[in-house]
Amino acid sequence: MRQKFGEKYIRYFMGEIMSLPAKNFQTFEKTGYIRNDFLVFGAPAIQEAEINEVVASMKSGWLGTGPKVARFESEFRDYKDARYAVAVNSGTAALHLSMLVSGVKPGDEIITTPLTFSATINAIIHAGGTPVLADVDPVTMNIDPERIEDKITSRTRAILPVHFAGRPCDMDALSDISKRHGLKIIEDCAHAIETEYKGRKAGTEGDFGCFSFYVTKNVATGEGGMVLTRKKEAAVRIKILALHGMSKDAWKRFSDDGYKHYRVVDCGFKYNMMDLQAGIGIHQLRRVEENWKKRRDIWNFYKQCFSHLPIRLPADPEPETRHAYHLFTILVNELETGITRDAFLAAMTRRNIGVGVHYLSIPEHPYYQKTFGWRPKDYPNAMNIGRRTVSLPISPKLNHDDATDVVNAVEDILIHD
Ligand SMILES: *Cc1c(COP(=O)(O)O)cnc(C)c1O
Repeated sequence: MRQKFGEKYIRYFMGEIMSLPAKNFQTFEKTGYIRNDFLVFGAPAIQEAEINEVVASMKSGWLGTGPKVARFESEFRDYKDARYAVAVNSGTAALHLSMLVSGVKPGDEIITTPLTFSATINAIIHAGGTPVLADVDPVTMNIDPERIEDKITSRTRAILPVHFAGRPCDMDALSDISKRHGLKIIEDCAHAIETEYKGRKAGTEGDFGCFSFYVTKNVATGEGGMVLTRKKEAAVRIKILALHGMSKDAWKRFSDDGYKHYRVVDCGFKYNMMDLQAGIGIHQLRRVEENWKKRRDIWNFYKQCFSHLPIRLPADPEPETRHAYHLFTILVNELETGITRDAFLAAMTRRNIGVGVHYLSIPEHPYYQKTFGWRPKDYPNAMNIGRRTVSLPISPKLNHDDATDVVNAVEDILIHD
């Protein structure tokens, strides 16, 4: 079965004709097939260019914030057609500083999605705001604009949409709400580097666009983040807050221009990006479109291969949008598959395929229950997705054989187990 299946779909995959069956499987009693090596979920595709760039930084002795960070900022800004870009050391830092610079004050409410990583919520809390959740649309898995309207109060200050899995939120509806109610928009673009909505690039439409370059993200620097904004004052303030609140260009104080005194003008944070990280980012960014095409091909391959299985597949991208294909999430409903989501996760791991969960809905976590009184069933769409979802590997590092191994493992579990 393995070989037949592999051959059939390998022809489709990336439009190439390959006759070799995937080689990483060995016959495995009862459960069919198992890879010899573990396929790491979200492994970045690192090449020699990044490695050499980091080595060059190490040899030069300039490891910290420096000229490579400035170059990465300007190249990222150009890629996104943005006005200003400020690099920081994580997506969480990008969110936190954007919130502070938006003028979030204690008691201000920020409306966001329950289907996100905890960092989105924590950043709101750290900025002194109060997170308010509006449930997602069950098909797009993005925040539902109508439910945002229901949650607006006199204390609402901003909307924090997350372009889930790389699918753009309904930005026309969000912009309309923000204009009518005078709200800021801070876009969580951690999944959405390549995302576009009606020709507008994700992260350039809101007041702030926050990106992450964490290892599993579409551009990976290990840890790293970026803020995009249209306002110069906002960019300058973020830059200052990201480096202890020291006046502009303090990072140059040890350069060959001669020592410069800095002035602390704000109580800032230690959120600056290092040249070691930017050096990786510069080369990752050069391959961002190539890697996007690879993930798109894997996405289409999975969609094709899984069309006959009793699982729910991600919806096709909406017209006039560009999906970043950051995650491929299936929904495993026990009533239809005969297997629970958690048993499915374990069965994939047993077959040496790394999987992820994006995400258990935010109200499932004890801290938020205790602090805000949230209950999962009050956000039923996010709850149902969170309890059934499985993310399959879709990294550009996957080759034909790897993707075929994933397909075979899923088939094996759903059809033969
Ligand atoms: C990864 C991620 C973040 C946080 O980014 P870090 O760089 O890990 O701090 C925030 N929001 C979402 C939706 C993410 O996926």
